[in-house]
Amino acid sequence: MTRRYLTTPIYYATGDPHLGHAYTTVLTDALARYYRQTGADVRFLTGTDEHGQKMQETAARKDMTPIQLADQMAASFDAAWRDLDISYDRFIRTTEPEHIGVVTTFLERLWAKGQIYDDMYTGWYCIHEERYWTEKEVGAERLCPDCQRPVEFVEEKNYFFRMSDYQDRLIQHIEANPNWIVPATRRNEILGFLKQPLQDLSISRPKSRLSWGVTLPFDSDHVCYVWVDALINYVTASGLLDIDGGPDQPGFSDPGDSWWPASLHVMGKDIITTHAVYWPTLLMAADLALPEQILAHGWWVMEETKMSKSLGNVVDPLELREDYGTDGVRWYLLRDMPTGSDASYTPERFQARYDEIANVFGNLANRTISMISKYRDGIIPEAADNGLDANIESTMRAVTDHMDALRVHDAMAAAMELARAANGYVDTREPWAQAKDPTRAEDLDETLASLARVLTVLTALFLPATPQKMADLARQLGLEAVPTLEQARSVPLGGLEVQKGPPLFPRPDR
Ligand SMILES: [Zn+2]
Repeated sequence: MTRRYLTTPIYYATGDPHLGHAYTTVLTDALARYYRQTGADVRFLTGTDEHGQKMQETAARKDMTPIQLADQMAASFDAAWRDLDISYDRFIRTTEPEHIGVVTTFLERLWAKGQIYDDMYTGWYCIHEERYWTEKEVGAERLCPDCQRPVEFVEEKNYFFRMSDYQDRLIQHIEANPNWIVPATRRNEILGFLKQPLQDLSISRPKSRLSWGVTLPFDSDHVCYVWVDALINYVTASGLLDIDGGPDQPGFSDPGDSWWPASLHVMGKDIITTHAVYWPTLLMAADLALPEQILAHGWWVMEETKMSKSLGNVVDPLELREDYGTDGVRWYLLRDMPTGSDASYTPERFQARYDEIANVFGNLANRTISMISKYRDGIIPEAADNGLDANIESTMRAVTDHMDALRVHDAMAAAMELARAANGYVDTREPWAQAKDPTRAEDLDETLASLARVLTVLTALFLPATPQKMADLARQLGLEAVPTLEQARSVPLGGLEVQKGPPLFPRPDR
């Protein structure tokens, strides 16, 4: 059986989930649901990143301990994902003993292989990002290029990972695998970044400044840099590492039993460098396989401002849910943003996308089930149901191609075209006229059976975006559940009793 291991980033647990997090997670969920629809065995990982300076500071400001804050925020993310119907298999927290054990083992392994050395670091440091900056980067103003806060001059012992040793290998990997980083703009950005000599990576922070982290196994005065700690979560949740194995032992379980390597890491474009440079070089140094693919999506933009907590422009995706339901929000996010590009959120665009699914697909479902109820006492006729087979065939192929190429928006557009074609079929066949003429009873049976078939296929095609609504529609069609893509074309429908329900995508009451 095909196996797919999909991940979102683990979200930094200092603030509540916002639209950026929601989009990444809904996008990954749609892909996970799609792969399950194809019959693959899927592992879908999300979670929270709970160590580091900002956690320590934020907790102190709220008069909490870091773990109290982490508990609260992990619950907040988990609740948000339940509200958005996210079908994750594992919610990892970096404060879990298992993860701390895996980080420790991973670092021991690098240390034993001579991939880590200590050195004095002298230069500029932003406490907020836990990042070191060069003289040139901080400029005469001595401000952090990322957050504009004043940086401080530090002189301290640091542990460095020999990242520079892997620059050529990484470039070769990216060049040999054109689809490793999607979209191509991000791939080119990383290749551009790699034209400069790659520096070694500081992987430690002194405990004198920051104690909330994973202690280095080879120096108890330092903790692991939060990004290195965070990236390793993907390996922890895969089950690849046996934390009881020492550095001289294999230290790693049978790769065949684990989910590693990840099939796909999904993230926002702002954290592509950590995922496409730090992470693969760390894996190379540890002699572990690289993730198969990396997808960096764009940002939701509102009034030309990046929707990001740090800039204070928080849009709570749950606000839209109140009026339009979870699936209305999921549909908008997946349909409107070209996967990989930026998109603008406006209420008008949201409304237009919602109207599309309500008027085209919702209407098709409603009229089909109404006609089966009215003309055939609610029983789907046993008749040829191939009236739309050519459209179904080409749409299935298009949706599969788009989803496999991670173009979720195009896949949803293609599915919508099938619903449009089915509405056209209703208008051409005029079942209301067929129903008036007893000599055309067979034609009417074929019309209704063909419409039931296309609706069944559409439940399978739209399931990644609107899972609750598709489960509702499957029940209305007399099915127990949404069929897989393969079953959707062949599951017997004749004789099933339809159940007319409320509109799938109702107008919000105001
Ligand atoms: Zn900063």
